[in-house]
Amino acid sequence: MADSSVINVSIVTPDGKVYEHTADMIVVSTQSGQLGIMANHEPVIATLDVDETRVKHDNNEDEIAVNGGFIEFSNNAATIVADSAECQSDIDVARAENARQRAERLIEAARKQNDKQALDRAQVALRRAINRINVAKK
Ligand code: ATP
Repeated sequence: MADSSVINVSIVTPDGKVYEHTADMIVVSTQSGQLGIMANHEPVIATLDVDETRVKHDNNEDEIAVNGGFIEFSNNAATIVADSAECQSDIDVARAENARQRAERLIEAARKQNDKQALDRAQVALRRAINRINVAKK
């Protein structure tokens, strides 16, 4: 095992590697609650919510909007695989605000039409937009 006081964090999406850094701690939102992982934590595989991931290193914290996916941690390496993820500085807030408004309109239309699939899709799109807005505004 490498240096046992830090962990290596990487976040990958189909577009490639979005984030990579060594860290003292990573905090993620799993479907069963928040999870903080430090060096030498036991191995983990967990499904992630659409929420921020916080990476603490050098008395700093990086925030990344992670839109679902999963985390795998073993041997002090944390890998997050997600459909999409954006570092705070890469988030286009105007785009996310447009996406939020579009999703809200789609939710209203889907409710009127009793279209459960369209409602599910729009609700997930809304969560992604809100996640991006929240992370960008931290
Ligand atoms: P939109 O409707 O604005 O495209 P979306 O939620 O449908 O939003 P995704 O399908 O999740 O978008 O992502 C498509 C690509 O665009 C991904 O690479 C994602 O990282 C990027 N992306 C989406 N929204 C933003 C944003 N507000 N700022 C920066 N990158 C974004």
